[in-house]
Amino acid sequence: MTEATPVVVVGLGPAGVIVSRVLAGAGIPVLALQPQPEPAHRSPTASPPPTVRRSPAETAAPARAPHQGADRLGGSKHLAAPQSYRLDPGAFDSWPLSIDELDGYYRRVERAFRVAPRPETAWTARMHAAALSIGHAPFAAPAAASGDTSALLRHPGITVVDATVTRVIRDSSGAVTGVESIDASGQRHRTACRTVVVAGGVIAGIRLLLLSGITGGGLVGSGLMSHNAFTVNGLFPGVDLGRDRAGAASAVAISEFEGDRFDHAGLGFTGGSVLQAAMTGPRTAAWREACATGLPSATAGDDPVAWIRRHESSIGTVWAQPDQLARPENRVDLDPTHRDVAGDPVARVTFDLADDDRLRWRFLADRMRRWLEAAGAGTTWAAPIEPQPLGTHLYGGVPMGADPATSVVDSFGRAHDTPGLVVVGSSTFPSTGGRGPVETIEALAWRTAERLARDARRAAPSARSR
Ligand SMILES: Cc1cc2nc3c(=O)[nH]c(=O)nc-3n(C[C@H](O)[C@H](O)[C@H](O)COP(=O)(O)OP(=O)(O)OC[C@H]3O[C@@H](n4cnc5c(N)ncnc54)[C@H](O)[C@@H]3O)c2cc1C
Repeated sequence: MTEATPVVVVGLGPAGVIVSRVLAGAGIPVLALQPQPEPAHRSPTASPPPTVRRSPAETAAPARAPHQGADRLGGSKHLAAPQSYRLDPGAFDSWPLSIDELDGYYRRVERAFRVAPRPETAWTARMHAAALSIGHAPFAAPAAASGDTSALLRHPGITVVDATVTRVIRDSSGAVTGVESIDASGQRHRTACRTVVVAGGVIAGIRLLLLSGITGGGLVGSGLMSHNAFTVNGLFPGVDLGRDRAGAASAVAISEFEGDRFDHAGLGFTGGSVLQAAMTGPRTAAWREACATGLPSATAGDDPVAWIRRHESSIGTVWAQPDQLARPENRVDLDPTHRDVAGDPVARVTFDLADDDRLRWRFLADRMRRWLEAAGAGTTWAAPIEPQPLGTHLYGGVPMGADPATSVVDSFGRAHDTPGLVVVGSSTFPSTGGRGPVETIEALAWRTAERLARDARRAAPSARSR
């Protein structure tokens, strides 16, 4: 092994960037490993295409659509709007910390990334007025100034290496002693360290733990959650809504149908979602295709995509990011037959929706329709609900909690049963909440890094006295 490095950070998405910068700022050198497979979005070693299936009775097949996200400095936030929400306080009910404990960290993130609402547009003003007219309290969605966090990596205490970590190495007592990695030319390396922060995102992070034999007593990978985001569209005949004249971060939102803010009696589901009317930015073929799904053929005729193209300046959309419960049957494990280019098993994702997901979807879609209609929409339509195991907002699989029997890490992401292993990112969230995850990921990562720095300072005098 090479000379010991105090902290190895695996992955430089928003979570890894913040951990690296806060540690380096506290005087702790960081070695951060992040593959950079430009111009491809996905690294064949860090994020090989997972296989997917709906239930253990099926044989998982390679995913048809790529796993959404990016392998690069700054991670998937580059692809994000980037809306930047604090979670609703109710989302923390099952967490080992309260939203108050995150308040100071949320503030730091908001300052660092200049989080603020984008200016109002004709479309958001129309939806704002419509929301007021049906008794809601609309607000402008908060967004970071940019999705690029990588400037934070410019610090002499941070060394970035273009490589994928393939194993976390432990000694016979189970404590972390280093990592194994593979670089862009296929060379393998070993690096000694006593602390590894896994910041690889949900599926890649879980896969790395499982490849390393770290199972958290069978909990690692179990309880995958997805926002299963969806939209309801409405046609505003003859109105140019101008939605392509600003990016999707410009949005007006309502939160009356989020979390426990409404009466769930008899509804058959818990939670809900913030609902948002957003701009689109430039319209793409993929946008038209998605927008055409669910359009009644009586409206669109034989070519729904052509119909969308003809009417796209008059189509308004409301979208939801609904809560989902952590169910043990929805999980990530290692595929027994499919391997990546380095010979390691790819992730296998078993994921399906349950009745409460469908009921939540129906309820929210109905409220979204009413909002569009209050704004003047005639025809409205929505794509049928489909499971999104590889969607943009994934959660769970490495849950945080106080009890090692039901959780893998504590509220700082420190593994209960593997000294030196720390996990950050939304895999540790015990619940999804009904808003985007990134600001909470960043706030938690900041809190974790400060804690690691404090622990390192406390350990230093005793190390000197030995
Ligand atoms: C299209 C899109 C739009 C989104 N929009 C929003 C939004 O508006 N608001 C919001 O809140 N959220 C949004 N999200 C979600 C948000 O971007 C993610 O939740 C966030 O980026 C997760 O941060 P992370 O650091 O945990 O993981 P990632 O951003 O996934 O970063 C993980 C990094 O780790 C690297 N890595 C993985 N495995 C290894 C390994 N073994 N070795 C070395 N490196 C490794 C990966 O290459 C990657 O760069 C969006 C996501 C997508 C895809």
